Amino acid sequence: MSITANLTELKNEADRLNVKLIAVSKTKPEEEIMEAYNAGQRVFGENQVQELVEKHDHLPKDIEWHLIGHLQTNKVKYIAPFVSLIHSADSLKLLAEIDKQAAKNNRVIECLLQIYIADEETKFGLGFDEAIELLRSPEFSELKHIKIKGVMGIATNTQNEKQIRDEFYELKIFFDGLKQSFFKKDDGFKEISMGMSSDYKLAIEQGSTMIRVGSTIFGKRIIPHWKKGIADKKPGADA
Ligand SMILES: *Cc1c(COP(=O)(O)O)cnc(C)c1O
Repeated sequence: MSITANLTELKNEADRLNVKLIAVSKTKPEEEIMEAYNAGQRVFGENQVQELVEKHDHLPKDIEWHLIGHLQTNKVKYIAPFVSLIHSADSLKLLAEIDKQAAKNNRVIECLLQIYIADEETKFGLGFDEAIELLRSPEFSELKHIKIKGVMGIATNTQNEKQIRDEFYELKIFFDGLKQSFFKKDDGFKEISMGMSSDYKLAIEQGSTMIRVGSTIFGKRIIPHWKKGIADKKPGADA
């Protein structure tokens, strides 16, 4: 099927279920992003800073760009002027840098706390206890140019649906706990970014509000040989 057909079908499903669709365009050329754009998609996710910056420069300015991959502190400055949502905030140090760069750009940058839910060693994210410790810290309360909108998680890459469902369920329960403890009066704290091509249906069933879907829209990613081993090893791979 074409990008337009894939996107339209998925977008209808997401709209019907009241879930926001992030079209993950990493490694995909600008023509293909424009095909999705022309089919009505305005929200795109990338996992590498350089690629995100280049695509932002070249493509229409009403696109909302999300960073979904691991972000290194020294690269925050490149995306701070325009990024709409950072899904992968996973340390106080990173949030402090996002805050600093946001202030320089006279912005408040929206972020999700990436929470570690998978049974795999390679995935980034905060443990449950670490996330709570971060939210309680006095340093965190000083940050005025970031806004925490919710949480993000990546489930284990497995065929075991029960395991995936349990991981998403845990993230949803954790989100509810954070909401109660830290964000009770904050209507903006409402997002749970979970679900990708292979598991978005399970994620929605467990309460996802944002799905990050790439290959179901754009087809399989072919990894350029010069990026092999860096770009696309794992979801959430290093920016
Ligand atoms: C690549 C990626 C996705 C999308 O993966 P697909 O399987 O192509 O849908 C979602 N989230 C993150 C963090 C990713 O890196």
